[in-house]
Amino acid sequence: MSATLLRGGRLVPGGDADVLVRDGRVAEVGTGLAAGRAEVVDCAGLVVSPGFVDLHVHLREPGREDAETIRTGSRAAALGGFTAVCPMPNTDPPADNAGVVEMVAARGREVGLVDLFPVGAVTLARRGTELAELGAMARSAAAVDTFSDDGSPIREARLLRRALEYARAFGAVIADHCEDVSLTEDAQMHEGELSGLLGLRGWPAAAEDMIVARDLMLAELTGGRLHLCHLSTAGAVELVRSAKARGVRVTAEVTPHHLSLTDAALTRYDPVFKVNPPLRGKADVEALRAGLADGTIDAVATDHAPHAREAKEVELAQAPPGMLGLETALAVLLTDLVEPGWLTIDQAIERLTSGPARCRSLPGHGGPITPGAPANLTVFDPAARWTVRPEALASRSRNTPFAGRELHGRVRHTLLRGRFSVRDGAVTDGGEP
Ligand SMILES: [Zn+2]
Repeated sequence: MSATLLRGGRLVPGGDADVLVRDGRVAEVGTGLAAGRAEVVDCAGLVVSPGFVDLHVHLREPGREDAETIRTGSRAAALGGFTAVCPMPNTDPPADNAGVVEMVAARGREVGLVDLFPVGAVTLARRGTELAELGAMARSAAAVDTFSDDGSPIREARLLRRALEYARAFGAVIADHCEDVSLTEDAQMHEGELSGLLGLRGWPAAAEDMIVARDLMLAELTGGRLHLCHLSTAGAVELVRSAKARGVRVTAEVTPHHLSLTDAALTRYDPVFKVNPPLRGKADVEALRAGLADGTIDAVATDHAPHAREAKEVELAQAPPGMLGLETALAVLLTDLVEPGWLTIDQAIERLTSGPARCRSLPGHGGPITPGAPANLTVFDPAARWTVRPEALASRSRNTPFAGRELHGRVRHTLLRGRFSVRDGAVTDGGEP
């Protein structure tokens, strides 16, 4: 079968080395490897890393194919350097049973650009009243090991407790969207000085911190595995830090937009900056950066949330929350966190690879790049400069908060089991819509 020699790149983690890929696996890693009959790909000046993993995406299929499909979302993921993504269950119908998670996984395999690891709903129809059939989803062909009602929190502590206990029995993870909805009704942005000035209803940090605190207590009580989605507040970071110090089984993620933007972006009432949880103040952003650097936060996850133009181009109060993230994640991290010195490039890559792979089971993904491992790899140019143009994105939607920004760092190649899903910055599926 085919063989490829990635020559002269810098491995992260590691150092300068060639990577020989054969039959879908890493065959050899070392300097001065002989190409033999392998095709040689020059990687001088490029970084070679394990394929990126995104714990949190919304691919909108089934139900909102006008905003994204598994194909367009897979293309966006591959272009962003991802080889594995985890689609959330808030589809229509919701992924609260074996049939829907199997359909999503099968459609992902058919498209074949990125591995999909579907997240199942915790409660039936995500209504928060009774547990969904977690066991059936776990035993299904999709082998679901993570459950979430993302978009909504699990409101009732009693139900979260039962979910943590039940999931614990088969080693699964409960991922919560932390929001006390009694404090966030009709909220348009972070509650702070600016929301007062703009006359917009605010979403207080306390609404996140309270649920994070509750969830950590229940994880401690049950011994279950808890994952916290898209942390956005300094208080949440501190709660997770102290829970980890006492051995609570918790992992956490943060999005590129919460690491790089503040509530000041809402000054022009532009719905593209409306997201849940909302963009916070500078002190929160700095706490998230510090938490990511010291490992309190395990992973960067995009919460890629496509919305059709008609849905997002309305008044702020009517617009649904959410932003695109897959195609800009790496560059935002390199430009806004690595360049200013918050993270090293190795740390940034760790939070996109082995960090997320610690949060749930993702066989074959997250690295390391060692002989025998599936060749799920990302090759990027850390120095490439590019300007984000919404119309040039592979996503079916256009709601990126980074439109017009010049970013540094761009994916050159993505390999899924040794096969290029992206080559020289282009998806290899022939541009099928
Ligand atoms: Zn969420």
